[in-house]
Amino acid sequence: MQETEILIAGGGIAGLSAAARLAADGHQIVIVDPAPKDTPDTATTDLRTTAFLKPGIDTLTYAGVWDDMQQSGAQLRVMRIVDAGGAERTPRETADFDGAETSDGYFGWNITNIAAKAALLRKIATLDNVRLMNGCKVTGYRAPTPAGPGPAIITLSNGQKFAASLVLAADGRNSTLRDLAGIRFNRWSYEQDALVFAVSHDTPHDNISTEIHRSGGPLTLVPMPDHNGKACSSVVWMVPHARAQTLAAMDDAALARELTTETINLFGPVDIVTPRAVWPMVAQIAHRLTAPRLALIAETAHVVPPIGAQGLNMSLHDIETLAKQIDLAKLENRDIGSDALLHRWERRQLPKTVGRVGGIDLLNRAAMAEPKFLRDLRYSGLCAINHIGPLRRLAIKAGIGK
Ligand SMILES: Cc1cc2nc3c(=O)[nH]c(=O)nc-3n(C[C@H](O)[C@H](O)[C@H](O)COP(=O)(O)OP(=O)(O)OC[C@H]3O[C@@H](n4cnc5c(N)ncnc54)[C@H](O)[C@@H]3O)c2cc1C
Repeated sequence: MQETEILIAGGGIAGLSAAARLAADGHQIVIVDPAPKDTPDTATTDLRTTAFLKPGIDTLTYAGVWDDMQQSGAQLRVMRIVDAGGAERTPRETADFDGAETSDGYFGWNITNIAAKAALLRKIATLDNVRLMNGCKVTGYRAPTPAGPGPAIITLSNGQKFAASLVLAADGRNSTLRDLAGIRFNRWSYEQDALVFAVSHDTPHDNISTEIHRSGGPLTLVPMPDHNGKACSSVVWMVPHARAQTLAAMDDAALARELTTETINLFGPVDIVTPRAVWPMVAQIAHRLTAPRLALIAETAHVVPPIGAQGLNMSLHDIETLAKQIDLAKLENRDIGSDALLHRWERRQLPKTVGRVGGIDLLNRAAMAEPKFLRDLRYSGLCAINHIGPLRRLAIKAGIGK
């Protein structure tokens, strides 16, 4: 039996961020992930980018990762929402939320998941208090009974066992640990997919992230660094299943023409510059966030459609709030995995998580709306947010997760 203070199941971006953040406070950490060593599983398959918002950036800065991560990203200065859901293929309302309206002067940075994960792995490799175990997964969780001072016992697929004061489940949306702890969850599908790829275009993006609404789902272009001397953006194009299949089957030239039309020429003609990936759109929420000596974070706890760049940013919020409680407990010589600590964290975190998953669900349903009267209602909502000061400030605050 080996011992560790904290064991993290899952070495995705969330698990690695949790490790780097907690390591900065001096905790001893073991991370376990089935991906083989030195070939990060995202390097070839995860073509997504992440818009990291300011609070999440603060967490990664504290973790000592941000300076490296930021090198390969593009700043997001303005969040633009364009409603083009009228009869004409033209914008009927454009709402610009300028980072200058926030105390930070910008909203965030857009970084490829490959670059984000690579920066995290580089950081982890320098930390004496973090041990990354690749090529094996968590297969067993035994809680102390009754919940008390004993550790949780974690069994790995290679037969090794760990006694840990605290276990973080960051093993993704199909989490084994969540099942082993008997925590149930709800999942629902939007019968929609997100097509993900990058494009270069003639019109500069000016560090503006643009979300276009017509019908069927939002189409978002998020700034990236230039590609071969041309402006470049990552695309998240959310459409009903059947349309996603049609788009995914097109060759690059046809897809580029389709996108140029759908972006109502805001970017000029576009060229596809990466392979594409298709992500089914689901939402998911765990009924509880804790079990004895166990906390569920990131996609193990919540999955949302990529509207307003919330998914991983919510995960970084989970990590930050938990890290603060753990740190305080350690300073006061209290147990970092006690029921009292975990329940306190859950009481604050679960209502926020439910609120955010529900809010994003509503926004996505509004964005999917096909009937004209619903599109008009959505348009009126955007106009109200854009022109009524307090609503505008509320939207900005909610958007950056403050
Ligand atoms: C199209 C799209 C665009 C998005 N854009 C944004 C954005 O702009 N901003 C944003 O904040 N979010 C965004 N998101 C959400 C974000 O990409 C995800 O929240 C994030 O990538 C999930 O990371 P994770 O570490 O929680 O999960 P995962 O990446 O799924 O990691 C889970 C890890 O656990 C490991 N694992 C599995 N089983 C076990 C086990 N038994 N034991 C140990 N390890 C195990 C897996 O190998 C994996 O490495 C987007 C999502 C989509 C679909």
